[in-house]
Amino acid sequence: MEFKKNQEIIITIDDLGNNGEGIGHVNGYALFVKDALPGETVRAKVMKCKKNYGFAKLLDILAGETCDVGRVEPRCPVARQCGGCTLQHLSYEKQLKYKQKKVRDCLERIGGVGRGVPGTPGEEEERIDQVAAKEAEGRDRIEAEAGERCQAGARWLPIIGMEEPWHYRNKAQFPVQMRKGQDGVFRPAAGFYAGRTHSIIPVTDCVIQHRCMKEILDAVLAWMREDGIPAYDEERHQGVVRHVYIRRGFYTNEVMACLVVKEEVAERKAYDRLVERLKGVEGMTGVLVNYNTEKTNVILGSRMELLWGKEYIEDCIGGIRYRISPRSFYQVNPVQTEKLYRTVLEFAGLSGRETVWDLYCGIGTISLFLAQRAKMVYGVEVVPEAIANARENARLNGIRNVEFFCGRAEEVMPGMERERRSAADVIVVDPPRKGCDGVLLDTIREMAPERVVYVSCDPGTLARDVRVLGEFGYEVRKVRACDMFPQGGHVEVICLLSKLHAKQTIEVELKMSEMDLTTAESKATYEEIKDYILERHGIKVSSLYIAQVKQKYGIIERNCYNKARDNEKKIPQCPPEKELLIEDALRYFKMI
Ligand code: SAH
Repeated sequence: MEFKKNQEIIITIDDLGNNGEGIGHVNGYALFVKDALPGETVRAKVMKCKKNYGFAKLLDILAGETCDVGRVEPRCPVARQCGGCTLQHLSYEKQLKYKQKKVRDCLERIGGVGRGVPGTPGEEEERIDQVAAKEAEGRDRIEAEAGERCQAGARWLPIIGMEEPWHYRNKAQFPVQMRKGQDGVFRPAAGFYAGRTHSIIPVTDCVIQHRCMKEILDAVLAWMREDGIPAYDEERHQGVVRHVYIRRGFYTNEVMACLVVKEEVAERKAYDRLVERLKGVEGMTGVLVNYNTEKTNVILGSRMELLWGKEYIEDCIGGIRYRISPRSFYQVNPVQTEKLYRTVLEFAGLSGRETVWDLYCGIGTISLFLAQRAKMVYGVEVVPEAIANARENARLNGIRNVEFFCGRAEEVMPGMERERRSAADVIVVDPPRKGCDGVLLDTIREMAPERVVYVSCDPGTLARDVRVLGEFGYEVRKVRACDMFPQGGHVEVICLLSKLHAKQTIEVELKMSEMDLTTAESKATYEEIKDYILERHGIKVSSLYIAQVKQKYGIIERNCYNKARDNEKKIPQCPPEKELLIEDALRYFKMI
């Protein structure tokens, strides 16, 4: 289909893009129409044409208002111009549907998940409707229902939505600029960048930010006006205030305000007056100034100075207290974060005996959450301040079965593997949007954990990595999206992958676990024997090998386990060096 610039067309929208734009298709050609929604037929003007896709501007909505497309009036008066909330014109229920569909589409198309498993898109849609409505009634019920409705292969669990999808954010970085008023006078203003620009839309009472943000911004702007402090001018690289950076602890109500400046204010006493104003904000525990002297889009500069109070805030998730520095990553939606971590915990399937690696661990939030149910948790993170927070957080909470390493996961882990420090039953990864490095995926393969729990903020890169892990013998078992960013287009998803065993091994292992529960002959369980050998010798042994050695010593009565159902395949036999280690363990447990 050929379109020409400035051509007016009529098109029906059938999908949503990553930034919330409507997408219409004509003979395979995709046209992006900002502000249009799936189900609507619109008149639009073509603005730009590429080979396979183009962009058009919405002129009118011709049809679709009456059918249930989910269009709603945005709460925020500048929602259309602001680059932040790309889905505010879509009902929350439809937002959840769209996010769930996006995750599934990516995993099926790119990740190759569920191929050959009969999908039931109609039922799926219906289920999300019900689930979105029921989310408000309590999570447990939903989980129970979702469990019942799972299909063979991957389980597509319903997205976890929010009861009150407004004012949820605990962090904001407002750019500050001088803006000309109607009277021709320039005054400092704070707000958000208009979509794809660097000019700001003044707005201090954002509908997704916590309400304390407005009070802080108003105080900073008043201080700038009265003290004659100019905002930074990006083009001329002049002026002072660049950003106001705010963080708040949801459970503790602690608030930190950090002023990012290009240079020192002319008179240092001005800082005292700023502190006086900000101290009045409820919950304020720290006022900082950060110096960013560079011509850059990066918000924080290298030097941080504490003006008053403490240089971190604390927050609590699931009974664990976290200390958070300005530079450390911390999830922005605290209500959903707890649900996200609980899902990670559930997917990790911990019994208290596992060794877990939490890669891309930030301040150790997931590590400490899991440590309550694991034998040992190791965390890896690249930002040194975050690792310092993680270690401090472990100490503050009296959690001893954790250890943190600072560095890139893809560089730290191969070293651990070589030094045989890499025993892992479960590996959790929570990478940034670009996903996991290929070297790290290779190392995961070497470490061969039973389960990988992949937490992702980009279903596209998740699907890419899932495909690789699939080639390494990991199968997606459960998928659950969690809406961390209501009103915006981003999607967070938790994915459980399990290692596939050879057919006969699965059968054998199943029998092993049955026997663990029923036989009286064993003094130590298979897991205890495995743990002992791993700890003492750094070597993994399988249940099958343990069973073979036990049989050799006549301490197993039934021996159905060592016959493969599929007679063509041979059962692997325990190598002599492992036999020695198992014998040592059996002796240790006084079983022989
Ligand atoms: N799991 C944490 C943090 C997730 S965000 C939480 O829930 O709070 C991703 C984290 O990965 C960030 O803290 C970032 O600093 C870190 N990171 C980015 N690249 C990394 C790499 N190559 N190796 C290790 N950590 C990395």
